[in-house]
Amino acid sequence: MEYQVLARKYRPRNFAEMVGQEHVLQALVNALDNNRLHHAYLFTGTRGVGKTTLARILAKCLNCEQGVSSLPCGDCSICRDIAANRMVDLIEVDAASRTKVDDTRELLDNVQYAPTSGRYKIYLIDEVHMLSAHSFNALLKTLEEPPPHVKFLLATTDPQKLPVTVLSRCLQFNLKNLAPERIAEHLATVLSSEQVPAEQDALWALARAAQGSMRDALSLTDQAIAHGNGTVTDKDVTAMLGVIERTHIVDIARALAAEDGAALLAVVAAMAEQGPDFDAAAAELLSLWHQIAIAQTVPEAVDRSMVYFTDLVALAELFSREQIQLCYQMTLMGRKDMLHAHDLRAAFEMLLLRCLAFIPGNGTEQPIASTAAAAATEMGETPAKKPQPVAPAPDARAATAAVAPTAAHAAQPTVRQAERIAGQPPIPTESDDTAAPPPWLRDEQPVDDVAAAASEKFAIDQLTAERWVALRRQLHLGGALGEIASNCALHSVSAQQLTFTLDPDATALLRDQHPGELAAAINALADQPVTVEIVVASSATATPRSAAQQANSELHQQALQALYADPQVQQAQQLLAAVLDENSVVPARQVKEGS
Ligand SMILES: [Zn+2]
Repeated sequence: MEYQVLARKYRPRNFAEMVGQEHVLQALVNALDNNRLHHAYLFTGTRGVGKTTLARILAKCLNCEQGVSSLPCGDCSICRDIAANRMVDLIEVDAASRTKVDDTRELLDNVQYAPTSGRYKIYLIDEVHMLSAHSFNALLKTLEEPPPHVKFLLATTDPQKLPVTVLSRCLQFNLKNLAPERIAEHLATVLSSEQVPAEQDALWALARAAQGSMRDALSLTDQAIAHGNGTVTDKDVTAMLGVIERTHIVDIARALAAEDGAALLAVVAAMAEQGPDFDAAAAELLSLWHQIAIAQTVPEAVDRSMVYFTDLVALAELFSREQIQLCYQMTLMGRKDMLHAHDLRAAFEMLLLRCLAFIPGNGTEQPIASTAAAAATEMGETPAKKPQPVAPAPDARAATAAVAPTAAHAAQPTVRQAERIAGQPPIPTESDDTAAPPPWLRDEQPVDDVAAAASEKFAIDQLTAERWVALRRQLHLGGALGEIASNCALHSVSAQQLTFTLDPDATALLRDQHPGELAAAINALADQPVTVEIVVASSATATPRSAAQQANSELHQQALQALYADPQVQQAQQLLAAVLDENSVVPARQVKEGS
């Protein structure tokens, strides 16, 4: 008996045999069984998902001699004629090959004549978007006033190219791409009834290669059977599809995890013997990093169709999430570079060696942070490791706050930035929750201003504009009064009266009681009682707010300098053309104007 290709042999004969598309089938079954029939149906979806198959089954449902239902008998002459493609009243048109207006007119000229043998005259127009504008007009005229004995079944891969006038007259069903699981499952059923031995991994590889199309999956399986001489093995399918042997890709990931350069190059050498497509290998590697990242975060979401599914769990343990992000980015960039490479194997090796060079340590962030700290040290600043001692004079304390934390906290934005370079938002790791931060990241105890002030009263006679900024920090003022105090610049001190200027733009919250309240707050800390006058006027003198903004701007600049001096950041700039998003750099500690 002549060999019949699987796609034809296993073409579904009724809705029950369709794989997937349950949402469409349910709607059609309901419409047929309740006799709510539309005169035009449009099936959309990518190639091979079953659009015309579904349309032919629908044609049987409409014309079966046993009556209109969702269960055509499959046995009457009409059902058999449709299955054999010789039903006179089912007029199939492939619009991709018939775009002339005459052809369509010729077809539609016969619309008004009653069907020959069936209940309905059915026009099945595939790739309907390929019709010319004139043909669409001819079709539209018929769709506007369809004779009761005519049904249109339209199919297209590209519904956006259809005129709205046509779309609006059709009942539209969108067929989905089949998940690889469904395809692999169906292939297993088909091959078992064909009595062809098949390896599970091979079926997954075929299912993936089919990209959602059952027709393609069955065609590929036909080829695989021929290729494997009656069996379907992983090795044959891998060779046939030209996919890179999964063991190589997994070995590459293992060598990178072990930071074993020799093993890495040995894998590439072994691959080279098979004359592989190194670009495809880079694509496979990308896909592996992606799946490892998923396995690390949401293990149950891993795509089971990945040929190296079983290795994923083990690999996910070998890398930190940050490393995977970095490797993905390196591989992506490396693959782009391969376009311009003189030698694909060399480019692939460079890609892997770059991953090797950049993998930071054993999954901790410390190497990056310590590099940054080292960079900060080279800049002449000592990372602060202990809480700053309490400074005796308020202005000295202000200076400490403005400068000392910089080196200590430059390290932290560096870590954030390194993660951001990998193209992903920072992902919290478990070590964030449990391990103690390295000394240079440890939070410093803030200088206890109140305790310091309790032992020594503030000398009003020595109050200057700068010292007012420091004094403001000790005044625990919130709300409107705090806002006013922060915007006040000290203008003069005379005869136990403090005169402040308040910028005209900052007066919205100023109230009559504020000078008195501010005086009371100051008197609690001062060595002699004072009164306060607030004059609304512009002034070039620093206010607590402008001083804090100035200090924070300097902290930001220093953090940026530390980042730009970081060798890893520099490498990322050179190799990845990374650009530091300066606005995203936030010094860990900011100078406050007061509370
Ligand atoms: Zn029938």
